[in-house]
Amino acid sequence: MNRQIELDQIAADIVANNVCPDLAESATNLVLGEGNLNADIVLIGEAPGKKEDEQGRPFVGASGRFSNEMLAGAGLTREGVYITNIVKYRPPNNRDPKPSEKQAFWPYLARQLEVIDPRVIVTLGRHSMEFFLPEAKIGEVHGQAVTKTVTYDDGSEHSWLIAPLYHPAAALYNGSMRQTLIDDFMAIAQLAKELNQAA
Ligand code: URA
Repeated sequence: MNRQIELDQIAADIVANNVCPDLAESATNLVLGEGNLNADIVLIGEAPGKKEDEQGRPFVGASGRFSNEMLAGAGLTREGVYITNIVKYRPPNNRDPKPSEKQAFWPYLARQLEVIDPRVIVTLGRHSMEFFLPEAKIGEVHGQAVTKTVTYDDGSEHSWLIAPLYHPAAALYNGSMRQTLIDDFMAIAQLAKELNQAA
């Protein structure tokens, strides 16, 4: 099936299944994700902020501007990757997403990943890293890709290459972390390119 149709269906199912009704009520828009539907790299953030909620697009505020810089450092643009979040509605006042909210959106994120089928999944920040690598400490593992087998609710499994990165928001006001993120992403983009060429 056409990938866009499948993604549209995921958004429709989130609405029809009334996922996180409190968040849906306070949010302006559902932010499913956007980018290249055949991307080698999927970036997963935490949840939409104010600007993302207003526009219905992920990473369009301050973190988005830095993400664009990070992509440019690796010779990529937003149009070359797919960007999404774990939680698809803005939590009020940008509070951290609750574990129950992350859990509620996980089946839909898993479906998005199956549709796009990237070579590398880049988690941005602790919330999305914890989903794939619950034991990991970001300070120790950032920038290192590891293979992780994910078991879905229906018992099926998929091995993904997961690359945990710091969240771009953490780097906004911290020069050394900025460079770390740029360097980490450059290495991961190179890895994705090599995997693509070897395939
Ligand atoms: N931070 C996130 O984690 N996601 C966004 O879409 C914007 C900011």
